[in-house]
Amino acid sequence: MKIRDIRLLPLQGETPDGGWDEKHLDRETNLHTLVEVITDEGVTGIGSVFTNATLIRGAIEVMRPFLIGASAIDPAATSERLHQQTFWQGRGGAITHAISGIDIALWDILGKVTRQPISRLLGGRYRESIKPYGSLLMDEPTRMRAPLEAGLSRGFRAFKIGWGPFGRRDRRTDEAIVKAARDAVGPEVELMVDAGGSDAFWPHGFKWAIETARMLADYGVTWFEEPLRPDDLDGYCKLTEHAPLPITGCEVFTRRQSFIEWIERRAVDYIQPDVTKVGGITEEHRIAQCADDHSILFVPHGWNTAVGLAADLQLVAAAPCARWVEYITPAPYIDDLLAEPIELADDGTVAIPDGPGLGLAWNPDGIERFTGGLTLTDSTL
Ligand SMILES: [Mg+2]
Repeated sequence: MKIRDIRLLPLQGETPDGGWDEKHLDRETNLHTLVEVITDEGVTGIGSVFTNATLIRGAIEVMRPFLIGASAIDPAATSERLHQQTFWQGRGGAITHAISGIDIALWDILGKVTRQPISRLLGGRYRESIKPYGSLLMDEPTRMRAPLEAGLSRGFRAFKIGWGPFGRRDRRTDEAIVKAARDAVGPEVELMVDAGGSDAFWPHGFKWAIETARMLADYGVTWFEEPLRPDDLDGYCKLTEHAPLPITGCEVFTRRQSFIEWIERRAVDYIQPDVTKVGGITEEHRIAQCADDHSILFVPHGWNTAVGLAADLQLVAAAPCARWVEYITPAPYIDDLLAEPIELADDGTVAIPDGPGLGLAWNPDGIERFTGGLTLTDSTL
């Protein structure tokens, strides 16, 4: 079975605020793009890329000679060939992002052909359910309660709050936000804090981070994410060694090779690759396994789409140790792209799909709405 064509379905209309400079982003900005791989036997698979479609189109043009006619049922081998054949162009950037979506789609195809969930094809399922954490942006302290209560009533029993004013104004505001959030969710619900140190011109270093980590520990925060600039490897090593709560990061990195030194030096307690940028399921599974061998917990970064979440669910099923997946809430590119809503159990967990491939069905109306009228190609499987 060979790759016959690649289609792009750029998402627009409900793009989530990333917390970045407003000039870069509004609801109409195309920041996430679905990718469909179509085979010569009529089987199709779907992937998702954390990138504007213009960049992906360019990446696919570069890869076209290697892509069309390549095996559609050897995801790891086909993706690795694409990485190696494009070594001199766009490595780690738009090319790697584009391969991420293609790789997810190829695993989806292999799952459909073999009638197995991707997690089993990766080596087997360690778990049938996982706790999603509701992920949302921080706001003024007085505005934290309403979105958290909405998430609680939806069934979330863990939340991550991030970016917004945190670390960008003063210590008093930081603590007031965290206190308001803790008061809103109560003592039993897990609360994570994401400083968003990959924001432009992040001003803080080790001393701010360690003092803030101590404050967060006082509120029983589960982990402290991106407290430093994303490339500050030495800073992360020192902070992870001394902080009283787990330190997490690495969401912006691409390619498994970028993670090696971070894992070997134990720069973070929990590692957070994003399947829609890092190189797809193949790359992220290898990172997760390497991290596990170094006692670092794999927690997928999922500020993306329903397709990214479906991939994350398969990845955590196939990871020896996993405790959470990220779930933006509210999130039209997740909830409105699914044919059926993901239900949370009383203990705040969700079932990991065990159907073929990604194991979830897509909502044609949602896809049409966010792509200006595009539809998915019918798959023979
Ligand atoms: Mg983050």
